[in-house]
Amino acid sequence: MGMRLVGPVYLVGGQDFNMVYLDWPANDSNTYLIDTGDPLVLVDCGCGESLAGILDNIKEMEFDARDITHVFLTHAHMPHSGAAEDLRRNGVEVVAGPATVGAVRAGGTATVAYHYHRRFTCVEEATEMKDGETMTLGACEFRALALPGHSADCTGYEVTREGRRMLFCGDVVRWPGLEQFRNRPDYDRQAYLETLMRLLDDPPDVLYPGHGPFCLSKTEHWIGEEIKKLLRKPE
Ligand SMILES: [Zn+2]
Repeated sequence: MGMRLVGPVYLVGGQDFNMVYLDWPANDSNTYLIDTGDPLVLVDCGCGESLAGILDNIKEMEFDARDITHVFLTHAHMPHSGAAEDLRRNGVEVVAGPATVGAVRAGGTATVAYHYHRRFTCVEEATEMKDGETMTLGACEFRALALPGHSADCTGYEVTREGRRMLFCGDVVRWPGLEQFRNRPDYDRQAYLETLMRLLDDPPDVLYPGHGPFCLSKTEHWIGEEIKKLLRKPE
């Protein structure tokens, strides 16, 4: 089962909503489907073994998974990127920031697959989208934003549709009640703080995080709370 969110965005996968059940310690990210009006696009794709369930959810919402042309990865962590190679083999273009492309091709520790007791399927080919670059698909413009800190390779995708700026922010901003993820090899507190301050300067209208619920208004509140989490526990 999936659900429609705001505008052209649907949630079709995610452990926190039990969209597709996986045994511990899997922690599948939210998988978003965007109906651009022409192709369908995914943002993040879960750890891999949930892909069949995600495709079932898409079908149940009366979309045709064969219309998916791109998957945008917010970073290389396996809960977000593990299904990318399976999607690619089915004709979907994998798009990610340059460091994420390197990480998912190599399949090393940057995917943190070890943390989930799983094996990562390396991505053979992916398209780099650098900070500030844009791609227009259907009626949506996707703009890549480098958001380092949670990991070095984090990229957010800002999608503007009908004047509303929606940011798919991966693990960079989450619901204030959720702890920050820190047990990752390339976590960088200073870079994270600078990323959050930049977001706070020009907050989007909507935040779609990689885990947990969504922020549909006043995103500066959640960004501010994320900064407080960072400052509360100095390392
Ligand atoms: Zn992560």
